[in-house]
Amino acid sequence: MTTTHALHSLSKQTTRMEDYDPTAMSVMQAQQFIRQFLNPVIEVETLPLRESLGRVLAADIVSPAQVPNYDNAAMDGFAFHADDVNTSSLKVIGIAFAGTPFDGVVGLGQCVRIMTGAMMPQGTNTVVMQEHVRLEGDVIYLMSNPKPHANVREAGEDLKFGQAVLSASHRMLAADLGLIASLGVAEVCVYKPLKVAIFSTGDELVQLGKPLGVGQVYDSNRYTLFGMLKRLGVELIDLGAIADDPAMLEKTLLNAARLADVVITSGGVSVGEADYMKHLLTQHGQVMFWKINMKPGRPLAYGKIQYNTEKSAHYFGLPGNPVAVMVTFYQFVSAALITLMGGFAKPLPMFTVQCVQAIKKAAGRTEFQRGILFEDAGVWKVKPTGAQGSAILSSMSQANCFIVLAEEVGNLEAGTWVQVQVLEGVV
Ligand code: AMP
Ligand code: MG
Repeated sequence: MTTTHALHSLSKQTTRMEDYDPTAMSVMQAQQFIRQFLNPVIEVETLPLRESLGRVLAADIVSPAQVPNYDNAAMDGFAFHADDVNTSSLKVIGIAFAGTPFDGVVGLGQCVRIMTGAMMPQGTNTVVMQEHVRLEGDVIYLMSNPKPHANVREAGEDLKFGQAVLSASHRMLAADLGLIASLGVAEVCVYKPLKVAIFSTGDELVQLGKPLGVGQVYDSNRYTLFGMLKRLGVELIDLGAIADDPAMLEKTLLNAARLADVVITSGGVSVGEADYMKHLLTQHGQVMFWKINMKPGRPLAYGKIQYNTEKSAHYFGLPGNPVAVMVTFYQFVSAALITLMGGFAKPLPMFTVQCVQAIKKAAGRTEFQRGILFEDAGVWKVKPTGAQGSAILSSMSQANCFIVLAEEVGNLEAGTWVQVQVLEGVV
């Protein structure tokens, strides 16, 4: 879909959405709504294998070879033919090392001493472990009879020639680097990194290194956003903290839409707030303002900002409260960015554990309480981190999971089973 099409359907959707009560938007509805506008960036580049770590493959990796490339021994022992498995003794006629094969042919009644990884000599297809034989001179006596073909890794058993080893859209992780190296492939074709511009909004925000005045706070949101975005592997454009000044906000917003594929701001999207962001966003794009049925993270804006007729950017307006920034990032932004990066956005894994403490919750909104998963006599359980205010960022540092409580759920007694989303490796 072209940008014009996307904008067109966004404004169409906007009209349809007017029938919608934006205060009743559920987490899932908002996720689904956003999903329809996400078309991956299409620019690709070829990189040396190691530099592709964290990037998204733009083409399938097809195996140019088989792995392993030849039948080889999985154990140190003696290689012989399966027809000899029931013999009691075999004559040792040579030795095969990894990297130095035995170059003769092994006949029936014969064997070759073989090391792990060494190529199976001609005439052999079975290995008996050295611990299962008794060696006397150049004869081995089999103390137990191995199964035919035992302890042999067959050529191509890991990867076959011509097989798609990894498919396009796969995000490159440590195992993938090794896997591709095992094929001898030195370069891979990946999507170019997504450009993401961020800025904070608020008159009260102060840069690190400056003293705090009365009623001021340090701009922490740009630091959490930096961390989360860097972990995703995007190209970050940090446009700083902007005061609630319409001219400055407009200039920064348009500059962000010019420079980036995605613009993320924090603060200034609360409904009823005397802020300028909402007005600017309506003027320069199509943006939806939602009061999502969630806690924390109620106000959220999503849409497109138009720099000019040629260039637009996706826009996420996150709430100002520090915990709400992180929660909305994980529930809405992160999956969207992965899709725009050309990858498969998988939902965060969720599973059920017992919560050892009572939980206070009012029915009506999905809550993402911060939790600590811990092991109790071999069983994993969860407890809340403590105070759950949306400005208590220490709760995010202590947490290793979100305790996800559905809209309809109210107060819970200690011992209730709850759903958790694990944050380790995500945050
Ligand atoms: P807002 O959404 O702009 O009404 O902000 C909600 C709350 O989040 C206020 O208490 C703000 O001071 C706080 N806040 C907004 N932006 C930031 C930021 N960048 N860093 C830390 N706190 C912030
Ligand atoms: Mg503000």
